[in-house]
Amino acid sequence: MTKPLRIEIPLNPHVAALPPYNAGLNIAAAQKHCGRPDIAALASNENPAGCSPHVAVALAGLNPSRYSDPACTTLRAALSHKLGIPPERIVAGNGSEEMIAAVCRAVVCPGSLVAMISPGFGLHEIEALANGAWVEKVGMQPNLDFDVPAIIAMLARQPAIFFLSSPSNPVGPALDGESLNRILTAVAPQTLLVLDEAYFEFTDDDMPDGLAALSSTNISWVVLRTFSKAYGLAGLRVGYAVTSDARLARAVAAAKTPFNVNAAAQVAAVAALDDEAWMRSSVVALKRERARVADAVAFMGLSAARSQTNFLFIDIGRDSQSALDHFLSQGIIVKPWKEEGYETFIRVTIGSPTENDRFIDALRMLTTG
Ligand SMILES: *Cc1c(COP(=O)(O)O)cnc(C)c1O
Repeated sequence: MTKPLRIEIPLNPHVAALPPYNAGLNIAAAQKHCGRPDIAALASNENPAGCSPHVAVALAGLNPSRYSDPACTTLRAALSHKLGIPPERIVAGNGSEEMIAAVCRAVVCPGSLVAMISPGFGLHEIEALANGAWVEKVGMQPNLDFDVPAIIAMLARQPAIFFLSSPSNPVGPALDGESLNRILTAVAPQTLLVLDEAYFEFTDDDMPDGLAALSSTNISWVVLRTFSKAYGLAGLRVGYAVTSDARLARAVAAAKTPFNVNAAAQVAAVAALDDEAWMRSSVVALKRERARVADAVAFMGLSAARSQTNFLFIDIGRDSQSALDHFLSQGIIVKPWKEEGYETFIRVTIGSPTENDRFIDALRMLTTG
């Protein structure tokens, strides 16, 4: 008997048409590609110093056979204490990227307008599109600073969501207090402002705290933060959303999977919060290295955007995709940017001093070779 032909099942057209997320190479793939074991992984903005030693201690006491707490009660209580926000307004996620998805699922309807910055974070677009949104982008200025008037003009169109990552990924600058306040006064009551502060811990002391600025407004907002970057827990997947009100938090929580934050991630995040001193000292060391790499880049006559993050966005003056092989041959993974107008840019994470030296040498070789 011949098998009947399988009919292709209809797919959700929004999901079937999604652009891929540009996740880049992992260390094993890079090792295979260049045949060397000592890979400098500078494409994902992880913490080169690892994480607090309190995390390993906490993980050693874990019982993996029990389901994790779906409400993340202990973690949310610790965050509430740290931030001065009631736990009812905090939702923990499997990385803050899950919270981007949950916010979209909670708010976006087919045809909703969702706005974001370009160049920007791919998931702001992907998760909006997955829910049937129409996505519009606001460019950065030629000097790679935020274009505040253009952001305000977009807000006048009253999008359902405006995603703003400040500090910006991939560019690096953060909105100063005056710019942020101008933007906040332009947010309509119908618009949810999502301030993605994945790099909050790396900002200079004179930069505004988004949570504090938003708390004094009556707009609807979400602030996203993560344990992946400054706290060094990228592999465990834990981040969180702080919301303007408990109703919004309930909608975001309803849009996530029930046991989204696994037990290891929950205890690790609590332990990391308990050792802020480790995080702060690793940030101090990282900023020193960031200044050193930025100086070396400038000395080569290349320009990097001002950075309030743990990475630099550098115009290498040639197609960045084809420079990828050069860096890989030196055992270095960087992120070539692919958005239109930025094809000569790479985003490079600030690594350990040795990794940064290797990056500087490879960049010099590329630009003088
Ligand atoms: C890294 C990053 C995130 C996501 O981090 P998680 O690991 O999912 O917590 C979110 N937004 C921006 C802008 C980022 O750079």
